Amino acid sequence: MNPLTPKLIILLTLVVRAVWADPVPMNKPVTGECLRIADKLASVNYDECMNRRLEAGSGISVTGAPILYKEYPPLNSRRPLGRVLLVGGIHGDEYSSVSIVFKWMGILDVHHSGLFHWRFVPLLNPDGLLRKDSQRMNANNVDLNRNFPMRDWLQLTHDYWINKTNSNPRRFPGAGPLSEPETAWLAQEIDRFQPDVVVSVHAPHGVVDYDGPKDGPYKLGRLYLRLIGTYPGSLGNYAGVQRNTPVVTIELPFAGIMPTPAEVSNIWRDLVRWLVKNIQETPLKVAQD
Ligand SMILES: [Zn+2]
Repeated sequence: MNPLTPKLIILLTLVVRAVWADPVPMNKPVTGECLRIADKLASVNYDECMNRRLEAGSGISVTGAPILYKEYPPLNSRRPLGRVLLVGGIHGDEYSSVSIVFKWMGILDVHHSGLFHWRFVPLLNPDGLLRKDSQRMNANNVDLNRNFPMRDWLQLTHDYWINKTNSNPRRFPGAGPLSEPETAWLAQEIDRFQPDVVVSVHAPHGVVDYDGPKDGPYKLGRLYLRLIGTYPGSLGNYAGVQRNTPVVTIELPFAGIMPTPAEVSNIWRDLVRWLVKNIQETPLKVAQD
């Protein structure tokens, strides 16, 4: 046999695999990001990441990584009940908060029925997660969940940081509101998309938290409602309290251990039920035209 043949076969296999496994081969930022995500997360492999057909848009992290997103738009068959923005991985060391968003996108890829107009951001803080040692903060060492605007931002966030956290570097709110490209982009997304509900995924407190008008979901899967309180500069404070848009914060029990597949489905099922009931009953905004 020609000694080149085995190498040729391997090369051809790689080429074929790359073409088959890559549903959007021209979208290099997504390919690169999926390689990095699969390398970091035990629960999300490369093919799964690519199969979600995420998009790289205008969102860019401090180091230039794309902030991937996916839209499940309204279908012709029905008018959606409302718009839901779902965000994972605000904190880069909360692995499960990213992985579970991939699982939920996998459910919607099969079952999207136009009930809601969804926008998913599985990983708002790619620099925090995808560095060698994952960290809560972004590449500027800012806690993104303290960087959202509010009245008297500078005084309130810094007072809280200094007095309540003892200047914990993991909770540094940044130099100013929306000083970070990741939070600035998400705030723009909220302006553009005008969600009826924001869902934010974290770990490891094992509860559901809620900010906004009316009451939050009493129970999602095995997670029960417990109001943790709003932190100055948090997404819950920004969207829930100041913009009056309900923010459901799902705190998974473990940052490094995924809930069981059954629990992943149960949280999703309960969330959708709550959304159906509450978006319909909330006369805040009407579904998109
Ligand atoms: Zn968190």
